[in-house]
Order: sequence, then structure tokens, then C-alpha cells
Amino acid sequence: MHDLIVVGAGPAGSTAARAAALQGLDTLILEKQPFPRYKPCGGALSDIAASILDFSLPCEICERAITGARVHFRDQVLERHKSFSLTTLITRSRFDYFLLQKAGEAGAGIKTQKVLDFQDKGDYVSVQTSEGTHQCRVLVISSGCQDKLKNRIQGTDKRERMGVCLIAEIEEDDSKIDEHLADTLDIHFGVAQGGYGWIFPHQGYYGVGIGGLAAGLHHPRQAMLQFLKKNGFSEGQRLSGHQIPLGASRRTIARGRVLLAGDAAGFVDAFSGEGICYALASGKNAGRVVGEVPAAEVAQAYAKKCRKDFGEDLQYALFFAKMMHRFPEIFLCMLAGQEEVLDRYIEIPAARRSYRDFMRWLAPRLPLSLLRAL
Ligand SMILES: Cc1cc2nc3c(=O)[nH]c(=O)nc-3n(C[C@H](O)[C@H](O)[C@H](O)COP(=O)(O)OP(=O)(O)OC[C@H]3O[C@@H](n4cnc5c(N)ncnc54)[C@H](O)[C@@H]3O)c2cc1C
Repeated sequence: MHDLIVVGAGPAGSTAARAAALQGLDTLILEKQPFPRYKPCGGALSDIAASILDFSLPCEICERAITGARVHFRDQVLERHKSFSLTTLITRSRFDYFLLQKAGEAGAGIKTQKVLDFQDKGDYVSVQTSEGTHQCRVLVISSGCQDKLKNRIQGTDKRERMGVCLIAEIEEDDSKIDEHLADTLDIHFGVAQGGYGWIFPHQGYYGVGIGGLAAGLHHPRQAMLQFLKKNGFSEGQRLSGHQIPLGASRRTIARGRVLLAGDAAGFVDAFSGEGICYALASGKNAGRVVGEVPAAEVAQAYAKKCRKDFGEDLQYALFFAKMMHRFPEIFLCMLAGQEEVLDRYIEIPAARRSYRDFMRWLAPRLPLSLLRAL
């Protein structure tokens, strides 16, 4: 009987397992893929996200410290830079593997097994895998957005509550990347049916991607090929990606002895698509509550803590996403056309400004008609 079983070793799972193991709990991670494994992702790790970790990341994982953003909308281009880091670019295979090793170092057991099903028996949880059955006091499901285990707790998500992202990793000499972008994120609004595209300067490659609402973006592949072509990249790239949940939609995130964390819980910023931060924050909360409260109370304690820590941020992000999709001209002309708006927005991932502060500053500057319609 383990104290905790964690399904999936993405950022949410490894962080949950480390937080529990550090409290001396008997913790087991079940991950279906051998690590290191590929994970499609832009790899933008905001400074808020990095601050959730209780250790520093080694230099070989931090590819670039990003201090600026270049934003395009229609024929407008605006670029702002800061004297401090906004976000760090990482490659997920290396980042996730490092987090998993940190969970192992803290004492968590790790097995490469696919979890097929589970039953909450009231006083313990039974977990069936490809290799047999395990038992635990509490189960954390952090198996991402694609896996169906989470549906047993929260039902199937509607298409309206999902986004979709595609990415290509395009090899390039660092000298050329430095010349083109250096420490700047290149963001293109108004592509992918009201979503956005990005070009991120990794080490030795560009991460090029698009993201939009699943309900509106019927042909993501085509939108991605257009974006590649428009930005001078060849269309013969390997494309990967999947759906992501739009955070702040109403979802059940815990029931009985089962907690959902990260993408499985639906914790993604609906405006920017940032999910690593919430995966780390929710994973840490999950791992901690298992040691702090009786098993019968973990669901309530966990949901409350997540709501308190980042519920409001996800609400604001959803609000911005709605504004962007319903009034792209007004909203994006402000973001990509007014220096002071972009200047303040990019301080959010650097933890220099909260979504709430940004909104308070922005609200009086928004046209009344837009506020009323929302
Ligand atoms: C194209 C794209 C670009 C993105 N870019 C960014 C970005 O730049 N910055 C950002 O912050 N976020 C980004 N995101 C979102 C981010 O990738 C996710 O929010 C984040 O990976 C969530 O972490 P997680 O731990 O919840 O799940 P995941 O990282 O998806 O990990 C889940 C793990 O569970 C395992 N698993 C699945 N099913 C089972 C099972 N049944 N049994 C055992 N193991 C299982 C999987 O193999 C996987 O290792 C992007 C997403 C996409 C699709």
C-alpha cells in the first residue's frame, strides 16, 4: 500500500511525487513512456513557473533567458524589452527528465507502466496497469490532456473548452538565431483563426508553433503550413501537437481519494497557452496535501488550495482570451499597437505584475462597448 501513486511524469506528476516524497511519504510514479521522451511544447518556462521549483535548473537545461517580445498584428509590429528575464526557453525532453530525476532523488519510486484503470474503494485506491495492480491511499492523475483516465472524475470535455496547438522544431545555426531573435519571443496574433503563432529562439533550433480554439480551428495543419510559409520556413517539417484544455472552465478536479493535476485538471492559461506553471503549482499542491491532511479530506483541501493559488489568474486569462476572440481588432490593436499595454503585459510571466493588476490598469482604457458585451 503506497501513500501516493502518481500517474504520468510530466511537470505535474514529477513535482507532486517530489513534494510527497520529501515529506517521507511512500510515493510511486507510473509513467507509460521510457524517459527521456519527446513532448511537443513551445518550451517557454515563465519566471513564475521556475520559482515554484525548490531547486535551480542547471545551465544545460536553460537554453535562453528571454527578455523581450516582438508582437505582430496585421501590419503592426511592436517590440519591448526588459532589463530582467521574463521567461526561460527549455526543451521538454531534457526538462521533464530532470524533474523526474529530482523526484527519484527525493525518494519516489518510478516504474514504466501504463495505467489502464483505477477504482476508488473508499479507504484506498486500486490502480490497474499494463503490468499488474497497485494500491495507494491517494491517487494523483497527472497524465496530461489526451489520456482518458481523468474523464472518470470530470467527464469528457466539450470541444468549446479546448484549444489546439501544433509545433515544429526547425534546426538552425545559433548565430543565425541570434541575428534574427536573440533573446526575443516572436508572437504573431491573428493567425490560426483568431489564435496566435510563435517563433521561439531555442538552442540550435527554432520552435515554431500555432495555437487556437479547437472549435474554431478546423484545419490546424493547414494553418500551421501557412504560418511556416509566411515566415520563410519550408513546409516539409515534422508537425506535432495536441489539444490543450482552456483553464478556468468549470471542471471537477478532485473527488474522494483521487486528485487531478496539470493538464489533466484543465489548468492552462486560456490566453497564452502557458501550462507548465500550473502543472508545477498544482503538482506541488497535490503532493503536499497528501502529507498534510487525512486522506478523506484531500480532495477538498487540494481544490481549495489550487483555487486560492491560481484560480483568479486562470479566470483573468480566460477573460483576455474571450476579448481576443470576440473583438480581435480592438484588443489586439491595443496589445500589439500600444507600447505601454505590451510593456505591462510582458511583466506578468516575470512575476513583476499580476493579471489582476494588469486588468485593473487596463479596464479604464478599454472601450465601454467591449466591456458591456463581455
Ligand atoms: C504545441 C504545444 C506547445 C505548448 N507550449 C507551451 C509553452 O511554451 N509553455 C507552457 O508553459 N506550456 C506550453 N504548453 C502546455 C504544456 O505543454 C502543458 O500544459 C504541460 O505539458 C502540462 O504538464 P502535465 O504534467 O500536466 O502533462 P504532460 O506534460 O502532458 O505529461 C503527462 C505524462 O503522462 C504520461 N501518461 C499519459 N497517459 C498515461 C497513462 N495512462 N499511464 C501512465 N502515464 C501516462 C505521458 O506519457 C506524459 O509523460 C504547450 C502545449 C502544446 C501542445
